[in-house]
Amino acid sequence: MDTVTYKEPAPILDKENPFESMMERFDIAAEILEMERGVYEYLKTPVKQVIVSIPIQMDSGDIEVFEGYRVIHNDALGPSKGGIRYAPDITLDEIKALAAWMTWKCSIANIPFGGAKGGVRCDPTKLTPVELEKITRRFTANMLDIFGPDKDVPAPDMNTDEQIMAWIMDTYSMHNRRTENAVVTGKPLIIGGSLGRKEATGRGVMVSTFAAMARVGLNVKQSTCAVQGFGNVGSVSAKLLSEQGLKVIAISDISGGYYNKKGIDVNKAIEWTSGKGVHRTLEGSEIGDPITNEELLELETDILVPAAREDQVTAQNASKIKSKIIVEGANGPTVAKADPILDSKGILVVPDILANSGGVTVSYFEWVQDRQGFFWTLDRVNRRLDRMMHDAFNNVYQTAEKYKVSMRVGAYILAIDKVAKTLKVRGIYA
Ligand code: NAD
Repeated sequence: MDTVTYKEPAPILDKENPFESMMERFDIAAEILEMERGVYEYLKTPVKQVIVSIPIQMDSGDIEVFEGYRVIHNDALGPSKGGIRYAPDITLDEIKALAAWMTWKCSIANIPFGGAKGGVRCDPTKLTPVELEKITRRFTANMLDIFGPDKDVPAPDMNTDEQIMAWIMDTYSMHNRRTENAVVTGKPLIIGGSLGRKEATGRGVMVSTFAAMARVGLNVKQSTCAVQGFGNVGSVSAKLLSEQGLKVIAISDISGGYYNKKGIDVNKAIEWTSGKGVHRTLEGSEIGDPITNEELLELETDILVPAAREDQVTAQNASKIKSKIIVEGANGPTVAKADPILDSKGILVVPDILANSGGVTVSYFEWVQDRQGFFWTLDRVNRRLDRMMHDAFNNVYQTAEKYKVSMRVGAYILAIDKVAKTLKVRGIYA
């Protein structure tokens, strides 16, 4: 009889866990800051981890039990802030890492929030709208002691949207016997959402891009750009950048890339993907010659905006990147092993925790407006966002210069130093 020997599957080359990538950079920054061990441990450890069970009577009449999570990584700077995701494969570890990411992002954006993340392990594609609503309301009811405008403020994330935020807000309000719209952000406008929220991340990418170009000495009207990913972040970034005169010569999505050396007609691409009310890919849009997503990353452009997903710039392709500036619209598009390669090529990388922080910044504006009961014009939202993104960019840039490190390491130094200093001045309660 043949014996079957178990073989470990070969690791996928350079397929890094983006959260491990994040922790690697955190460690570099902590070492440069010569952080004392106790503070380092404190900053790595979430302050609260909650797991709840969510029993639901399904449409079939059967009862199913789902698991829900909320992790508050740190609340030294203020109420914790972070999205809620619905996915069949989420784990507490993933939520913990994403919560830490939010702490650093809020710290850099200079908004008075700590970091959190949450989720429910479920497959939204297999749920009816009634089941989805029941899960959301029961999850919220189980989290009544955790959520709160002054405590912990959720937002949409993977597979959650405005409607789900509305159900969370309504459930929380019913239990508190008053309307509490500041308990979540990313709500529909009619119940206290903010103008400009949907475009905020792309707008922040635009502000970061122009700030970086000014530092490198690139002229907007004479420069070119490629944008990977054409969802919320990618399409808004491409639109705003091209409106300001930057030539977008390539865009892409899951269907592949499209290249046009005269400049892509971004409005035509947006019309194609969303014009008829149904979202579709760029395939068939006739906006340029087809290229692959890999080719897009390696194009001869001044600016590259990866705005699709994690793990796109790796140790394998980093040496082939020809852009002068990378502005990370997506979370974790560059693996940690690619950092030194990009640095050695002199490429200026505007890191994700800075470049895509426009979204959380306008979420903060939404929370402020809800608490004031006074809503701002789009122009006011955009002007305040531009100013805060500029300030955040300059703070990171100056920190990087001071410590003679990349902007990425500078961003982590700035973020963790602020939280560490807050901890020191508040002291340890015992
Ligand atoms: P989205 O789902 O709206 O769009 C994702 C886009 O990427 C789609 O066009 C999709 O076709 C494309 N895509 C997916 N896989 C791809 C691949 N392998 N190659 C090329 N394109 C691919 O998502 P989004 O909201 O635009 O988010 C994009 C990224 O930005 C994510 O990493 C997200 O975490 C991050 N982000 C989003 C926000 C926000 O406000 N939406 C805020 C901060 C960070």
